[in-house]
This record gives sequence, C-alpha cells and structure tokens, in this order.
Amino acid sequence: MNQIKVFAPATVANVSCGYDAMGFALSELGDDMVFTKTDTKTVSIIEIHGANLPFEADKNVVGVVAKLMLKDSNADFGLDIKIYKNFMPGSGLGSSAASAAGTAYAVNQLLSSKYNNLQLTKFAMQGEVAACGSAIADNVAACIYGGFILVRSYDPLDIVSIPTPSELVATIIHPQIEIKTEDARKVVPETISLKTAIAQWANVGGLISGLYASDFDLIGNSLIDYVAEPKRKLLIPHFNEVKKAALNAGALGIGISGSGPSIFALNKGMFAAKQVAEAMDGVYDASGIAYNIYVSRISKKGVHVI
Ligand code: ADP
Repeated sequence: MNQIKVFAPATVANVSCGYDAMGFALSELGDDMVFTKTDTKTVSIIEIHGANLPFEADKNVVGVVAKLMLKDSNADFGLDIKIYKNFMPGSGLGSSAASAAGTAYAVNQLLSSKYNNLQLTKFAMQGEVAACGSAIADNVAACIYGGFILVRSYDPLDIVSIPTPSELVATIIHPQIEIKTEDARKVVPETISLKTAIAQWANVGGLISGLYASDFDLIGNSLIDYVAEPKRKLLIPHFNEVKKAALNAGALGIGISGSGPSIFALNKGMFAAKQVAEAMDGVYDASGIAYNIYVSRISKKGVHVI
C-alpha cells in the first residue's frame, strides 16, 4: 500500500461527570487526511485546508506523530501528507487529537498494522504534548477506539471501551469564541471535597451502567459534573440558557465538550437531537455570537479508511 486516506472523527472529552477520564467519537464530524509514501525518508505536510496551521513537521501534531512512528519502526520510507480540517482548532472537539490519532492510525496501516490500539494511543498522545503541553489521552483514545472510552489509568495506560447504544445521538453547539486551554484549566479547582468526589464518581458509575444497559434515563441523570462545569461554564456565554432550552426540548443531558467552548447534549434518537439543535439555535440566534451546530451519531468505529 502506497497511499491511504483516513477520516478522523471529532471527539467529546470529559462527558460531564467523566472529567479527564471519558470521551466519545462523533461519526458525522471530523477531518480527512491523505498519506502518500515517498522514498525520501522525510515527513512533509504538503497541503492544509480549512485551518491556519503550521506546515513545519515539528510544529504540527501530524508531523510530530508521523516522524515518531517512522523512527520507532525503522521505516524505509517517508511521507507526503495532506490535511483537510473540517472543524476548527480550539473548539473543544479534539481538533489536534483528530490529527494526531488520524496520523497514528494511517501510518500504522502503511506499516502493515505493526502497532495495536494502545500503542497508537501512546503515539497520538505525543501529538497532544506538542499541541498543548500534556499527554492527554481522552480525545485521542476516543478517536482511535471509537464509541465511548474510559481512561481507567495513565500509569500504566489502560483504555476501556464502553458499549454505545445505537440510538444515542449528540447535538453540539460551537460558539465561535476563543477560550484559552490555559484559562479553562486554571478555573478548575485543584482540590475537591470528599462529598464532591463521591457525587462525581457515583455519576461516572451511573453513566457507565447506563451505557451498558442502554438505560437512557440513567445516562441522562448521570450527566452531571460537580468538578469542572460550575467554573468553566462561566467562560461560555449563555451556557445556562442553552442547558435549560436543551433539557426542555428533550435532551437526556448536557455538558461542556472538552475544555469548551463547545457544548454537547446527548439525546435518544435523531428526532430528539434535531429538536435540541433547534432549541440551542434559538438561544444563540439572538446573541449576536457566531456559532455552528452539529447533529451526529456516535462513531462506533473511530478513525477509519475512506
Ligand atoms: P481543541 O480545543 O479543538 O481540542 P486543541 O486545543 O486540541 O483544539 O488544539 C489546538 C492547538 O493545537 C492549536 O494551538 C494548534 O495550533 C495546535 N495544532 C498543531 N497541529 C495541529 C493540527 N494538525 N490540528 C489541530 N491543531 C494543531
């Protein structure tokens, strides 16, 4: 195989109560990338569409991950890479993660599947280090494994795939405001009380049970974040109104996607998801802030060849 084209899904990290430990992949939103083998043994990003990102291989997560893998595997080829960004970096939908995970998956295909998903996640996490300074796994793992994932442990890295009920559909609103990841991190408290911790892990248990049992009420009731959302929502205009409107329109639950500013809702079925999209639209339409709304099923396969 000399060339491969992949779709790398956008991902929702945290999933409310699963702060820094859970994520899921979207099937209808993501980036496309094309990787072509060359004889030069170098990695060149030759085209970037849809976003203003660095072409230098060492500054773009795509180049960082590709170089790492070619070196680790002693590959006898180089790569020309085209990147098609279909959603914006800094949206809280795992833009750098889609690039990093998509690269890990594609390069592995060109290496005849030398590495397993856990190893690919570790390579992709190095891309996250290049993008934001920390080796975060929730977005890249959701992109690679597909469906819902739990990062059960970082040391050793342990990624658990959680079953995804087919009827689950996400609605996402991305207000086009900038929230610096640094600022979103700063507002989250460094310590929490035992009472808060108990409430949080009880909901994580509820969410995971709900996903296993396709119990939509339990999924919705468990989508509560006592740790990050109370502070982070203050950075997102109209968060409370969007939440109220989405829940009134039938959303199972709602939360902040990653570190924001995107807000996600989980719904039972496409009809409900579209009703919720209309409700979110109603709140933001009057606000004067530019925004995008997406309705998407959950991608059970994650990054894949197209
Ligand atoms: P998001 O909030 O959507 O998850 P991230 O915070 O993950 O976005 O990533 C954005 C940062 O990563 C930006 O500083 C961007 O310049 C950097 N970056 C480097 N390479 C890429 C890439 N290929 N795709 C997206 N972002 C990249």
